[in-house]
Amino acid sequence: MTQTAGKLETAKPEVYGGGLHPQVHDLGELRLYQSRVLAEEQTPFQKLTVFENPILGRVLGSDGISQTSEGDEATYHEMMAHIPMFAHGHVKSVLIIGGGDGGILRCVLDHKGVTRAVLAEIDAAVPRLVKQYIPAICGGAFDDPRAEIKIGDGFDFVRNTHETFDVIIVDSTDAYGPGRVLFEDEFFRLAKQRLNPGGIFVNQNATDFVKYADEMLVTTVARALRRHYADVSFFRSAIPLYWGGDTFFGWATDDAALRRQPLTAIQQRYDASGIQTKYYNPDMHVASFALPNSVRAMMQKA
Ligand code: SAM
Repeated sequence: MTQTAGKLETAKPEVYGGGLHPQVHDLGELRLYQSRVLAEEQTPFQKLTVFENPILGRVLGSDGISQTSEGDEATYHEMMAHIPMFAHGHVKSVLIIGGGDGGILRCVLDHKGVTRAVLAEIDAAVPRLVKQYIPAICGGAFDDPRAEIKIGDGFDFVRNTHETFDVIIVDSTDAYGPGRVLFEDEFFRLAKQRLNPGGIFVNQNATDFVKYADEMLVTTVARALRRHYADVSFFRSAIPLYWGGDTFFGWATDDAALRRQPLTAIQQRYDASGIQTKYYNPDMHVASFALPNSVRAMMQKA
């Protein structure tokens, strides 16, 4: 099939998608046109695919679900990383669970005050394929001397380590397969023990239409996090690949002020950092905590 950038020129393009796990996402399935498949690999954990889409560029897919792409990764990685980092203001150590594509790691390491970033990813094939085929997402993050990559289950890591961190970011797949345990209360309990006083826990939570078992995922996660943190909420970003509305990231900390930082404080930290961003900015940071009534209602049910 021939194509010019951004335009398909065949009647029947190939598509990628359709591997949804019904117990989590019964909205339907997102299918992306694929103009070229660059790699496919069945690992012990998932079927990974790297393909090209005329609009989003190179895309990483797992079990039929598009995870991230060159074109939309900033809407996800910049918001999920910079919001806790700038809200905290003096982060030295970060734990990333999942995140094998290196996007969160890259954004976290842009903060010069960070001296250590540990990434616990269950599937070694993810960083390997992203480094080889989609380096725009990971950049040089995996080779940064401050980064330590641990291949293994993130649940086991938080259970076995004695290390603590200022920020913990759970950039996992959705609540099915190996990702499911990262949405369970025991994981949240163990992760809290690994967080320094005044630290921030963030997790990827999918859209406000996603069910987990028989309840909206937002309600389930808010209820579990509230057992361990004084302040639990969500912040949102519009991510093209996670269709079905905005994506709501879980937010948990014992310091409620961290979510309510004035724009002037975030702007001052952002300007001082010298970090260049494609999507995140201090106005978006503050606005991202504004929640629709539908999500507020889900939180009240928690
Ligand atoms: N941003 C994407 C999203 O929101 O769906 C996910 C990014 S990343 C590709 C998700 C990563 O979580 C995958 O590399 C997967 O292997 C990893 N993962 C899933 N379950 C895990 C677990 N229990 N421990 C560590 N990593 C896990």
